[in-house]
Amino acid sequence: MVKVENTKNIAMSDCIVNLDHGDPTAYEEYWRKMGDRCTVTIRGCDLMSYFSDVNNLCWFLEPELAEAIKELHGAVGNAATEDRYIVVGTGSTQLCQAAVHALSLLAGGIEPVSVVAAAPYYSTYVEETTYVRSGMYKWEGDAWGFDKKGPFIELVTSPNNPDGTIRETVVNRPNDDEAKVIHDFAYYWPHYTPITRCQDHDIMLFTFSKITGHAGSRIGWALVKDKEVAKKMVEYIVVNSIGVSKESQVRTAKILKVLKETCQSETENFFEYGREMMKNRWERLREVVKESDFTLPKYPEGYCNFFGKTLESYPAFAWLGTKEETDLVNDLRRQKVMSRAGERCGSDKKHVRVSMLSREDVFNVFLERLANMKLIKSIDL
Ligand code: PMP
Repeated sequence: MVKVENTKNIAMSDCIVNLDHGDPTAYEEYWRKMGDRCTVTIRGCDLMSYFSDVNNLCWFLEPELAEAIKELHGAVGNAATEDRYIVVGTGSTQLCQAAVHALSLLAGGIEPVSVVAAAPYYSTYVEETTYVRSGMYKWEGDAWGFDKKGPFIELVTSPNNPDGTIRETVVNRPNDDEAKVIHDFAYYWPHYTPITRCQDHDIMLFTFSKITGHAGSRIGWALVKDKEVAKKMVEYIVVNSIGVSKESQVRTAKILKVLKETCQSETENFFEYGREMMKNRWERLREVVKESDFTLPKYPEGYCNFFGKTLESYPAFAWLGTKEETDLVNDLRRQKVMSRAGERCGSDKKHVRVSMLSREDVFNVFLERLANMKLIKSIDL
């Protein structure tokens, strides 16, 4: 039920609500409460060299970050780290491009390697694979129905950005050496989705941005089985940026360590905190969307090995749709709410992607405006 006071609030708050990007500021409150527990001191003479560990294939990876990554995956149980190479990147954005580059180079053909992702897909993949106009690979769009012969790379995002679904490959060519897959597990963490298995794929991408919300550090990592692929990814990063900021790596290592230490705590468990916050936001959003022309996906429950119970999914983005024939991104823009157009994700005008990770006050204004749109529509009738 929509309260009439909402209309008054909307008139008072005139700001633009930008939920187009997935800027994860929602978690600031938690880290503020952690006070100085994650503070890192770096002196003027520290971290000056390009090199971190000359004996490591990824020589610009800080050993303490490698350790923290392995320990965190071990504690959460979401991905296998044994017998694989860790490649650190300036965000997983750089790593995704490094992986596409490495796989295309190793495919060794003359024709560009096709790159596909099942719609709706993470729209940035399009820019990542087209912006530099590489002759080695070519964005071929939607993986559903892709049947071109020759080498290809499928990008699998699970849980998926933008629609939160659990994904597997859709171009199924088992035993085909020309079929390569990059798994993007940016959101495979217990505050977003039940951890149902320990992932064990050839190339798995993770990002610090979406675990704890520290997107500004620009740290991501890849877990890579094949040595040659890892080597080529490292080469790409060296040409691109001669390694990755050590200050960022040291800060990330510290925060991941605290995350791991507190992840079984009754009072300080970040994943518990994040899950409760996301649950609360999703419940309030579903309440507004209920009995309206808006739609939201439903997600199956799953047994979460981390929490030891059956849980629902609370994705980082809402894949908001409408039953009407309308351009939803523009409808929302008129209410001063910015969202990502479904068309950019390989979908249609009736869908948009809305970030669920904004600060609380911004999320509240979004809900009020959505409720207001519902109210206006019901008055129209
Ligand atoms: N993959 C997915 C699916 C994402 O949603 C994002 C962030 N929006 C990234 C990768 C990139 O993350 P990063 O900040 O590490 O570059």
